[in-house]
Amino acid sequence: AKSAGRDMVRFFSKETDQRVLSRQLMEVQLRQALSAGEFSLHFQPRLHARTRQVVGAEALLRWNNAELGYVPPGVFIPLAEEAGFIHAIGDWVLRQACTTWVALEKQGVCRGLTLSVNLSVAQLANPALVDELSQVLHETGLPPEQLELELTESHLMDNPDTAQEQLAALKELGVSIAIDDFGTGYSSLAYLKRFPVDRLKVDQSFVMGMMDDSADAAIVSAVIGLGHTLALGVVAEGVESLGAAQALTALGCDELQGYCFSRPLPLEEFRHYMQHVSPV
Ligand code: C2E
Ligand code: CA
Ligand code: CA
Ligand code: CA
Repeated sequence: AKSAGRDMVRFFSKETDQRVLSRQLMEVQLRQALSAGEFSLHFQPRLHARTRQVVGAEALLRWNNAELGYVPPGVFIPLAEEAGFIHAIGDWVLRQACTTWVALEKQGVCRGLTLSVNLSVAQLANPALVDELSQVLHETGLPPEQLELELTESHLMDNPDTAQEQLAALKELGVSIAIDDFGTGYSSLAYLKRFPVDRLKVDQSFVMGMMDDSADAAIVSAVIGLGHTLALGVVAEGVESLGAAQALTALGCDELQGYCFSRPLPLEEFRHYMQHVSPV
């Protein structure tokens, strides 16, 4: 038993070393990922629930590294935040997404549709964000009404007063704001009323569970009701089946996003989807 205990200790410390090592390796690779051109954006269509017409798309960041392979954003974005790279990366995402959207617009691929971009907590905390965004809009020529920024509920609640001020300043630029992952954080209704937001995105965990879990179904229904009571649009993400899409439409959900319609697509595939697949 004693030696087993020692082996356990060795096992755990070895694993910790490995974790630290791979984290350091990832940080080293992440530091040069921008200049090495390793980032790209994928676009996932968002559909109007009743008509099933595409009304916009969400830009999602992808990192492909020669040594590490594909690293999911849920892994490298928190690391980029801690290491202080997120400002440069977030700036690139905004610029790249807006530039791409204007190019698609000129090709007649997504006329008047909305582009959604995720912001990290560090970007929201950056006092220069509003000026930077205003510059990006100016340089790319994207009409602000066509840009929506997605912020997670917990990010907003980290520092609600600062968030409220930043959101107000962003809204003045003419962009709209969505609360992402809604239902997983802890916003009080009072804050929800105070934040100048336009849309709630029901967290995908509830949407994916709603067809076989009555509690998830109840939460989805409550969020849709709450959003509408506050005159906010409601988007469901993680819509994986036509059954869920129908149930959400029956509940009055405004927009749908999920694998049922399309995965996030690389630019060329997104262009193809918009021109040939999407029912117009
Ligand atoms: P999110 O903003 O909640 O994005 C939705 C995630 O759900 C995406 O994962 C998307 O690929 C996935 N998804 C969409 N539809 C379905 C579905 O029907 N079923 C399932 N199982 N999943 C679905 P992804 O692309 O891996 O992104 C993960 C998270 O990383 C995002 O969650 C977002 O928080 C963050 N992220 C991605 N791109 C960016 C970015 O450019 N900036 C920032 N700050 N965060 C980003
Ligand atoms: Ca999002
Ligand atoms: Ca989400
Ligand atoms: Ca999420």
